Amino acid sequence: MPPEAAAAVLRDCDVAVIGGGPAGSTAAALLAERGYSVALLEKARHPRFHIGESLLPANLPLFERLGVAGQVRAIGMRKWGAEFVSPWHDWTSRLQFAEAWDKSQPFAYQVRRSEFDEILFRNAARRGALAMEGCRVREVEFLGAGGGAQLLVHRDDGGEERWRARFVLDASGRDTFLGNRFKAKRRNPKHNSAAIYAHFRRAQRNEGSREGDISIFWFAHGWFWFIPLADGATSVGAVVWPYYMKSRAKPVNEFLMDTIALCPLLAGRLADAERVSEAEATGNYSYACDRTHGPGYLLLGDAYTFIDPVFSSGVMLAMNSAFVGVEAVDACLRRPAQAPRALARFDRLARRGASEFSWFIYRVTNPTMQTLFMAPSNRLRMKEAVLSLLAGDVFGKRPFAVSLLLFKAVFYLMSFAHLMRSIRAWRRRRDNIRDADAANAGA
Ligand SMILES: Cc1cc2nc3c(=O)[nH]c(=O)nc-3n(C[C@H](O)[C@H](O)[C@H](O)COP(=O)(O)OP(=O)(O)OC[C@H]3O[C@@H](n4cnc5c(N)ncnc54)[C@H](O)[C@@H]3O)c2cc1C
Repeated sequence: MPPEAAAAVLRDCDVAVIGGGPAGSTAAALLAERGYSVALLEKARHPRFHIGESLLPANLPLFERLGVAGQVRAIGMRKWGAEFVSPWHDWTSRLQFAEAWDKSQPFAYQVRRSEFDEILFRNAARRGALAMEGCRVREVEFLGAGGGAQLLVHRDDGGEERWRARFVLDASGRDTFLGNRFKAKRRNPKHNSAAIYAHFRRAQRNEGSREGDISIFWFAHGWFWFIPLADGATSVGAVVWPYYMKSRAKPVNEFLMDTIALCPLLAGRLADAERVSEAEATGNYSYACDRTHGPGYLLLGDAYTFIDPVFSSGVMLAMNSAFVGVEAVDACLRRPAQAPRALARFDRLARRGASEFSWFIYRVTNPTMQTLFMAPSNRLRMKEAVLSLLAGDVFGKRPFAVSLLLFKAVFYLMSFAHLMRSIRAWRRRRDNIRDADAANAGA
């Protein structure tokens, strides 16, 4: 059948989900379970590469509720905590999730995303969603007054499909499909960084139970992640200030190796290692849309916002937005009287997830924060509180809130005590953000 003829076919569903990453596949599985007809439209074909391999303890209950806990366990590397390595200190600091306020979730997993995302996608299909790969959503037209939407989909075999949906979930990740169409996407004015990354074999890992921990190495231009995967590969990436990324004059593979050489403690761990994937670079990825939802649609996961990878929060926030989003869709489609409340809750939690992590993210290269992370104190249970947040415990009752506030107060007091150092750090950050603003304005 020629594409023009295929385009004439109009297929119906209750919910169309744009993107089969963690947010989209989670939402599709949950909605299909509730009896909705769901079209899960993914432009790529699984298994496909994706960056973002380190998960949080707060992911684990979500896996249980989705019924994929065993499959994730089978591909995952246990991560009991994080190691911080600093060139300005002659020791390393280790934080373990078992020391968090809530001791019931002492570990998380590191996963190869191609495997992990495929598990979630196939799970959606198993639970009844029509999960289609090689299907890129090209256009969405909202029909107004509760009329749902029509979507134009291009298949990678050259065909076209049209779908009519009562509700649309945008889970297109950093493509921000609806955010772009509505011109609702804004660069984050408070943050700016870029990343270069690749996979390595034979990296020197920690021993015993610490093998699966994530290591964070600070260096002059930002920080590195070192994420050991279960199959022996290790994901290594540098998150750097924009000025450093702009200095790149070499191909990205060489630039990554040169950057690693600037961090001798990491370079030592990679002395016998071999790079087994092409390096990739991602610039200025910090953004948010000016809305979380609108008539007939929600923005899930990265399709709404992404700030920075440092605390491994992206996948957990994406999946959580799907869990909360499904409640809102259900209310809109079956219990309209409850829809305003459900949408307000979705909005509140989407914004809360991002803002809870952002205070720490914005300060991760600040020398005062580095001092606090290199010598964490549990006075007034501050360490337990920070660990709970970093484990992803951001949506519950948060019994640790007061201790977390105290930690922030200590940060500000210490910053004041080292005023000149703090001013230098603040200026550096401000200049970097301003530089990137100027570059964007000129672009
Ligand atoms: C450098 C870097 C490092 C990171 N490290 C971590 C980490 O260690 N831990 C962590 O938790 N998070 C990390 N993240 C963030 C994490 O990758 C994301 O937050 C997470 O993948 C978001 O899930 P999602 O489902 O919203 O989007 P995605 O996982 O990006 O999924 C979106 C899907 O939509 C598909 N799609 C896009 N457009 C269309 C379209 N028009 N039609 C059909 N399909 C479409 C894409 O192919 C993709 O499969 C990192 C991010 C970056 C940039």
